[in-house]
Amino acid sequence: MPHAALLPAPVPGLTTDERVRAAYSEGAGIYRIVPAGVALPRGVEELQALVRWAAETRTPLVPRGAGSGMPGGGVGRGVVVDLSPGFHWIAPDWSHRAVWVGASVTAADISDAARPFGLRLAPDPSSGAFATSGGLTATNAAGPRSVRCGSVRAWVDAVEIVEADGTARRVTRGAGRWERFVVSPDQRRLVDARFPKTRKNSSGYALDRYAESGDELDLLIGAEGTLALVTAVRWRLEPIPPDVAGASLGFGSLDALAQAVPFLIALNPSAVELLDRTFLELVRGDGLDLPGGIEGLLLVEFERDTRAAARGVVGDAVRGLKTSTVHVATAVDRGGLERLWSVRKLASPALARLPPSRRSLQVVEDGCVPLERLAEYIAGVRAAAERCGVPVALFGHAGDGHVHVNALPDTTVPGWQEALAGLFAAVTELLVKLEGTPSGEHGDGRLRAGLLERFYGADVVALFRDVKRAYDPRAILNPGVILPSPEWAPLSDLKVGAAAAPIPDDIGARLREIERTAGWATPKLELARSSSP
Ligand SMILES: Cc1cc2nc3c(=O)[nH]c(=O)nc-3n(C[C@H](O)[C@H](O)[C@H](O)COP(=O)(O)OP(=O)(O)OC[C@H]3O[C@@H](n4cnc5c(N)ncnc54)[C@H](O)[C@@H]3O)c2cc1C
Repeated sequence: MPHAALLPAPVPGLTTDERVRAAYSEGAGIYRIVPAGVALPRGVEELQALVRWAAETRTPLVPRGAGSGMPGGGVGRGVVVDLSPGFHWIAPDWSHRAVWVGASVTAADISDAARPFGLRLAPDPSSGAFATSGGLTATNAAGPRSVRCGSVRAWVDAVEIVEADGTARRVTRGAGRWERFVVSPDQRRLVDARFPKTRKNSSGYALDRYAESGDELDLLIGAEGTLALVTAVRWRLEPIPPDVAGASLGFGSLDALAQAVPFLIALNPSAVELLDRTFLELVRGDGLDLPGGIEGLLLVEFERDTRAAARGVVGDAVRGLKTSTVHVATAVDRGGLERLWSVRKLASPALARLPPSRRSLQVVEDGCVPLERLAEYIAGVRAAAERCGVPVALFGHAGDGHVHVNALPDTTVPGWQEALAGLFAAVTELLVKLEGTPSGEHGDGRLRAGLLERFYGADVVALFRDVKRAYDPRAILNPGVILPSPEWAPLSDLKVGAAAAPIPDDIGARLREIERTAGWATPKLELARSSSP
């Protein structure tokens, strides 16, 4: 890969300015990697010119939206291609409940535009205020409502892409198989046997979906910028249900909580969220009004066509779980539900209050297991954290068997990196044993790339390599993401600790502030400018 100083500058929108490169050295997640250059293409033609230049010079490109992705897919040593400012357009087709948007448009932008027409984007990622359509599609993102509506995959009708040779084209659902990668019947059997049977999966290339649908779109969704750059997305929208009600249910044991989940799912909820004891301990002292002895809380939401139906189903849920809950609170309208669910929002202030030495590091933040293994998984993560001496806070999407883990090591204690590595290894082991996936919605990025053989086996990973070669024979698109680079070292290049790459102090402080406040919508060029003469 060319060193920054060797990069030619004639490509529009490409800079090797040191401060700009520093501003793009971090995203959410654990890494700091200073790129060789940064490009901000203003539209498809500039992007095509950049990609053609990268193909000729074999320069790796790191596609990037808001940089809020957790496993390091948006940082790297090549040229970071920031697609968040240059593709900002919306072309509604409300009568067909659909909208074409440029890759820069966020989930919140879409919902804001669609709301007056009674429509919304069904997946509601918590990062919707900043996550771009390109990033959401590239990670096959999801959110609390995914228990009913699935991941982003189900709501993307078409994409426009720029390929690794600079060709621009549109890929539409239903257009059929991609002639450059055909799955044989034997390969399909292999894929069926080896893919995890979880309700969500954002790990690897979605060969299971591709084999089933025969739609090229299914290969591109969740490809994390390794197969093509997404410049536009056609989203399918859903009508906003008229009424909503819900409940907060506390359980005295993990088994009781896990047994309640299938019961609740049978009632067709729109969300079944988990706040584990470890999470409640973190936010205790923030006016949390809960009895003691709660091992976990389920927050349940039901959307219905009428008020009576919404209230009725909450009553059914509460009655059905009467003997297993130790705490129940209900809400009969949207305002009440927001108050009930506000406990989820206590995490950010609690994390912000932690001393500077305690960092929230996402290394096992996205594991997802078959529903019947949920209690085993939560108990196993807690035990591994205890053994390794790394405090954790667990929360997530119980209805999908999907658990987020905030690892909170004290980075002034000698050996914290080994302890974190121990947690990474132990939770990976546990996920393999429980037949889960290392990523329910965030993707593999650089962090998990080297784990895929353990989850899928060497033969499926060989198929992943074939997919990559078919799209990107020169391996210029996000190398090291999904498929590991030969020097894969998941816990190196950390943004924390003495070995972190040096960047200007003011930029480091601004990046830390963005992380603390989830200010990922901040244009990163602003960081580079702030103390320039
Ligand atoms: C506070 C917080 C809450 C979050 N909540 C959720 C949640 O509820 N659900 C969820 O799924 N995730 C969540 N995330 C993770 C993150 O927001 C999602 O992964 C999101 O989809 C990333 O979008 P982005 O625009 O920031 O993409 P980036 O982080 O910039 O990129 C993510 C990946 O997509 C690739 N990529 C980005 N844009 C393009 C493009 N145009 N073409 C090709 N490849 C591209 C990148 O190369 C990278 O591999 C959360 C993150 C944070 C910080």
